Amino acid sequence: MVERSLLTPNLSRRDFVKALGTITTALGLPMTMATDAAEAASNVDNRPPVIWLHFQECTGCTEAVLKATHPSPAELILELVNLCYQESLMADFGHGAEELLEKAMKKYAGKYILIIEGSIPLKDNGVYCKIGGKTAIDILKHVSASAAAVINLGICATSGGIASAGSNPTGAVGAPELLPEGIPYISLPGCPPNPYNLLGVIMYLLNFNKLPDMDSKKRPLFAYGTLIHEYCERRAHFDAGRFAKEFGDEGHRNGFCLYKLGCKGPETHANCSAIKFNEGIVWPIGNGNPCIGCTEGDVLFKESLFTYAKVAQPRLSSNVPPAQQEDLGDRATASQGVLVGAIIGAAVGAGAVYASKLSKEPEDENK
Ligand code: SF4
Repeated sequence: MVERSLLTPNLSRRDFVKALGTITTALGLPMTMATDAAEAASNVDNRPPVIWLHFQECTGCTEAVLKATHPSPAELILELVNLCYQESLMADFGHGAEELLEKAMKKYAGKYILIIEGSIPLKDNGVYCKIGGKTAIDILKHVSASAAAVINLGICATSGGIASAGSNPTGAVGAPELLPEGIPYISLPGCPPNPYNLLGVIMYLLNFNKLPDMDSKKRPLFAYGTLIHEYCERRAHFDAGRFAKEFGDEGHRNGFCLYKLGCKGPETHANCSAIKFNEGIVWPIGNGNPCIGCTEGDVLFKESLFTYAKVAQPRLSSNVPPAQQEDLGDRATASQGVLVGAIIGAAVGAGAVYASKLSKEPEDENK
């Protein structure tokens, strides 16, 4: 007899735990988290209540969670949490939805996780985003006041996103600017953020009853601890000085590095290259699109798409000589790239490949 998990009739418990195990491995989280999280969630009463609010956004973050499959993060997340309020998914609307929100807040006061999607417009007293006659400012302050912790999902919620670009006509800001002082929160920027990183944070909360270690921008280190440039599949081309110069040129067709098309991978922290999107098989750079820095509030829509990214030395082990840890400036020369590549290659066990490049200083083969 197949043992079924609690909420989703199509997902056996074995598959559920297996899927969680695959994801914890991919995210570099402790292996035991999968079984422990599944065990904790097997009692519905243990599942953390979640209230998920939408503000000034495109619902792309929700779509990213819903549209992925094999395993579906939506299925897995719904197995792990008690989703009390989510405007895109719930059947209630209008006054019924508002009552549901108030009931959930009252029932789980001080215990619920608040997920925020979208930016909050401050200009003109917040008139540019109103739900049920209330501004996003007032709703956020009201609902976050009783939350146990907050997850800012997507670049709009973390730092304003596209609504804050250019002249920022609505005065859009990220949720952290309005959250009550002292409330624990974590940010998962991206456009969209990778849904498996949300799953990882929820599993971590279930296991340890606290938020995972974060960087200075409050992003979990397990997901945002490395630069995209460090593990990019086109990195060998960067190191060898092989660049696409125009979309559709020979270099682009051959999968060369997208640095000269404005790729922001060298200054963008995220694990996209490791876990990817849509079944874990595609991601922007893999598809030929330069990284636009969507996990960095001070890069996305702030730096021109066609300026060269700053190439900082990737963080490597402490035995990297200090001279090699210096910022390489806003233009990476081929020889510097080769040196950095050699260090990374050694660090990941591919030193021989890169070391062979040290014997000669490669030219930009696309000149
Ligand atoms: S510049 Fe962009 S495409 Fe090139 S290796 Fe770095 S992250 Fe990859």
